[in-house]
Amino acid sequence: MTIRPLVIIPDPKLRLVSEPVKEITQEIRQLADDMLETMYDAPGVGLAAIQIGVPLRMVTMDVSKSEDERQPMVLINPEITWASEEKRVYEEGCLSIPEYYEEVERPDRVRFRYMNLQGEVIEQEADGLLATCVQHEIDHLNGVLFIDYLSKLKRDRVMTKFKKAARREAGA
Ligand SMILES: [Zn+2]
Repeated sequence: MTIRPLVIIPDPKLRLVSEPVKEITQEIRQLADDMLETMYDAPGVGLAAIQIGVPLRMVTMDVSKSEDERQPMVLINPEITWASEEKRVYEEGCLSIPEYYEEVERPDRVRFRYMNLQGEVIEQEADGLLATCVQHEIDHLNGVLFIDYLSKLKRDRVMTKFKKAARREAGA
């Protein structure tokens, strides 16, 4: 397992629409391992493959509270199949937008379908943190970031901050 470097805004890769995984190969299993390792190291509760620069429809998540009882999930080609009318507000963050947190309103409950690493199709319902997390991660597969749900003012402010930081890093 390898910890891979995270892709940070304003990197345009984060706006790509990821491609479906066609077959669960050894490389896909390796990618899942690396994603989990990178996510736990960060630490974060969810990671999409594009966040380590791989434009494939794959997500890892673990919303368990304690490190002793890890519940790693690997979602291949996940999709939301139903979302509740009721919304809830949750403070979100993103490994690609470090140290920035803001409240986002999303459906309170969702049903989602995905394939696991064994090739089984699973459909499951979620609420709470898992519901927020799965919506946030599936957004990444479509090039959508949580800051897209904020006011233009807030989004511009965070983009400007990270653009400046990227320029400094490039030495420009
Ligand atoms: Zn994210």
